[in-house]
Amino acid sequence: MSLRNVTLAKEVGFCFGVKRAINLTKQALDERDDVFILGDLVHNKRVTDELEAKGLQKVDDYGKQKGSTMVIRAHGLPKIKIAEARDRGLEIVDATCPIVLRAQEAAQSLEQRGCQVVIIGDRNHAEIKGIIGTLESPALVIDSVEELREAKESFRLRRKVGVIFQTTHALELCREIMNELVFMCKEVQIINTICRPVQNRQDDALELAARVDLMIVVGSLTSANTMELAALCRYHNPHTIHIQNADELGYEAFDWAVNIGIASGLSTPEDIVQGVRTKIEEFEGAIFTDHKPNPSTYAALGHSH
Ligand code: SF4
Repeated sequence: MSLRNVTLAKEVGFCFGVKRAINLTKQALDERDDVFILGDLVHNKRVTDELEAKGLQKVDDYGKQKGSTMVIRAHGLPKIKIAEARDRGLEIVDATCPIVLRAQEAAQSLEQRGCQVVIIGDRNHAEIKGIIGTLESPALVIDSVEELREAKESFRLRRKVGVIFQTTHALELCREIMNELVFMCKEVQIINTICRPVQNRQDDALELAARVDLMIVVGSLTSANTMELAALCRYHNPHTIHIQNADELGYEAFDWAVNIGIASGLSTPEDIVQGVRTKIEEFEGAIFTDHKPNPSTYAALGHSH
């Protein structure tokens, strides 16, 4: 029996929105041979490579595609892009996650109520571009109190603002901004658009991180929710490493740890997570070292971000 305990977070593998997007795309690829997508379907290279091997063309804008069927990715697209696709006579397979659609609708309803829309999230993320693209007036996108203060002069923030969140954001990280907004504005309306599956996974992973020696977060470096999950876990346990797959995990990274927790991002395939567990279990019976590394060395190992 192993002396090392490996505990997987309660839920690993794709969230329902990612599963749905992959299934819709596979179905389109089975039925047609002219399917393309603007950008990546989800932020995981192995998944996108598999779909491209099945014939999915990835392009960065219209005009470069050869096909006439377009998949809208899980993060959604700005409505101007969808209108452009319709004008070009393209067939659309809409894989936008229903929770992202709800966030778009929430932003629209705040705008209709006369609010200056404020989105807490990453302005370069596809989901945020999609939400902004459904609005008539410019939204303010911020990710820190400093950004909020800087924007104070150029946006109508003193009267009525309506706030939504990037669906994969951690509410915990938005508190400071919310406090500042309430202090700054006369009226603040909030619609909580944070995705429940994300929230549940974060809560579960944080609870796990707090009670293990070493926490391992598995997922792509281009996945916003994985990056955020790793940052949150690191906050609760500095011995947190972020890897993309088992190949990046050397024995020296965990040889000292007795209790190890594993959690993953929402676009990480389950078998990649299981691969990490198997790799650790392959060292069953190996000798433990009593040298607990200094967390600052993880960056040097390429395990920290
Ligand atoms: S993380 Fe949530 S919002 Fe994003 S695709 Fe998955 S279920 Fe949808």
